[in-house]
Amino acid sequence: AAAVSIKVENITKTYGAQVALSSVSFALKPGEVVGFLGPNGAGKSTMLKILTGYLPPSSGAAWICGFSVLESEKEVKRRIGYLPEHNPLYLDQYVVEFLEFCLGLHGIRKGRTQRINEIIDLVGLGPERHKKIGQLSKGYRQRIGLAQALLHKPEVLLLDEPTTGLDPNQLVEIRALIKEIGKEKTVLFSTHILPEVEAICQRVLILNHGQLVADRSVQAIAQPIKGQMITVELHQPVKKHDWQGLIHLIDAVEMNNGKSWQLNGSGSDDWRAQIALFAKKKDWLIISMAETSNKMEDVFRQLTGSEL
Ligand code: ADP
Ligand code: MG
Repeated sequence: AAAVSIKVENITKTYGAQVALSSVSFALKPGEVVGFLGPNGAGKSTMLKILTGYLPPSSGAAWICGFSVLESEKEVKRRIGYLPEHNPLYLDQYVVEFLEFCLGLHGIRKGRTQRINEIIDLVGLGPERHKKIGQLSKGYRQRIGLAQALLHKPEVLLLDEPTTGLDPNQLVEIRALIKEIGKEKTVLFSTHILPEVEAICQRVLILNHGQLVADRSVQAIAQPIKGQMITVELHQPVKKHDWQGLIHLIDAVEMNNGKSWQLNGSGSDDWRAQIALFAKKKDWLIISMAETSNKMEDVFRQLTGSEL
């Protein structure tokens, strides 16, 4: 298996004058389950479509398990399972008939019945397997979408708002299912629901107006660090290791291409003064410095100006 499941490098996408994504970069390791969080119109669906190879970026590059989405369409398609935001289903088709059709699209001829039975078990479609898709609830239709995404045993799953429109019970069930699936796959799923990220993921990427404004571990969110958190804006980009040597520093989290940083520290009354002195020694120009709340809700509000 490749050392990196998803790699995105400086992806920009414009629709005419509209900038949907602006120089976005990130990478997912095998087995990571990552929430792709952002308000409506942030560019989440656009990024997922680019990763499937369905939509070409305006510039930049992306790889799935080491295969370029621009150059190795076949290799990429084989390795990803994709659940689109508005999953098109033929309401008149029977569940099993649809899954057979999907296997055909993947060119899988052997062992079809067995694979369909396996996948029906996995996504919990058993009780509904003999029905027509049109007879199923939204929750079960979403399970069909997941089944379709998983049929060909992809290494990477891209799920676009898989829980939107579900009732509270269905929501809990689909989240549990994604968590279960995530034990064996790399999963990137978009959502605008914060608790969902905390329930399912190890890491969160926050997108706002096409820019990646945060890349944080959920562990750090679930157990907020005691002490101080200071957001520092610099005139020039720096690297994470450049912060080594700053007194009281626990972690430095990059926010805006190396120019904005969230510094988590063990705390002291004059930490901001010490940060300023550190920057001065390094010859960095600080544009702003502010105390930040540790809570994810507050961080999100600060970064995007939106409520979740
Ligand atoms: P999200 O999934 O986060 O809600 P999208 O990726 O759907 O965001 O959209 C990002 C931005 O790009 C939005 O401003 C949206 O209006 C715009 N956009 C998306 N698709 C198109 C399109 N086909 N043509 C023009 N603009 C688009
Ligand atoms: Mg979307």
